[in-house]
Amino acid sequence: MHDKSVALVTGANKGIGLQIAKDLAARGLTVLIGSRDLERGEVAAKAVGAGARAIQLDVTDQASVKAAAARIRDELGRLDVLVNNAAIAQAGASGRSFEEVMAANKPSKTSIDELRAIFETNVFGVVAVTQALLPLLREAPAGRIVNVSSSLGSLTLNADPASPYRGASGNYSASKTALNAITIALAQELASTPIKVNAACPGFTATDLNNFRGTRTVEQGAREAVRLALLDENGPTGTFSDEDGKVPW
Ligand code: NDP
Repeated sequence: MHDKSVALVTGANKGIGLQIAKDLAARGLTVLIGSRDLERGEVAAKAVGAGARAIQLDVTDQASVKAAAARIRDELGRLDVLVNNAAIAQAGASGRSFEEVMAANKPSKTSIDELRAIFETNVFGVVAVTQALLPLLREAPAGRIVNVSSSLGSLTLNADPASPYRGASGNYSASKTALNAITIALAQELASTPIKVNAACPGFTATDLNNFRGTRTVEQGAREAVRLALLDENGPTGTFSDEDGKVPW
């Protein structure tokens, strides 16, 4: 990466996104902390340090997405890395436990509004942000897009009778499956450009998303996305991996 490289991490005010931002800033990149609440983004940017600044970005709000893209062009004039990290596992703060959310998220039981809200953030939000920022990424010498996905979105693992992921499938898993499909399609679409598009699974990481049930630290959870964000020109595109290597689609 160039020493003036700029990265945007969506949903970087906390959790794995915040750690990805810290790691990219530590590698010398200027990091934009995407946060739907600007004040919380500014607190996070302070925690990351001098190379970071907050940017208001709600991935489900087209006006916010457009304003963020315009601000990045006006104030920084470039974008080298986009980490689509923001996601939700349930609609709104329901007070339900992680297990309750996963149980209610099944196709036979889910409310359509909840399914829609999850896709709105985890899938349509990623496409909206990517489309808004592609013009800048196309101008970069080595644009990188990392979609933070999940092994729960792996159709192969969900369909395998021997896999612990079997039975996990629900709204959240389906949204990550769709995100994986978009990752492959975009990578193929951009194959003749320097832009690389890959999906990363952080592993089961202790964050708000799962009421801190995860067994991995955010430092561990951030690693694969950071590796993919910093791929050199020989690196792959259109892949899905975690820290242990390839994850089956
Ligand atoms: P957190 O809930 O800790 O963080 C999610 C982040 O996304 C928050 O910053 C949140 O902002 C933000 N966000 C949610 N909705 C929007 C929106 N509409 N616009 C902008 N930002 C939004 O979760 P994690 O850190 O665990 O998750 C990070 C990524 O890792 C996600 O893509 C998740 O699916 C993935 N992942 C996580 C795993 C885990 O075990 N934790 C396992 C596999 C994948 P706010 O604070 O405002 O809510």
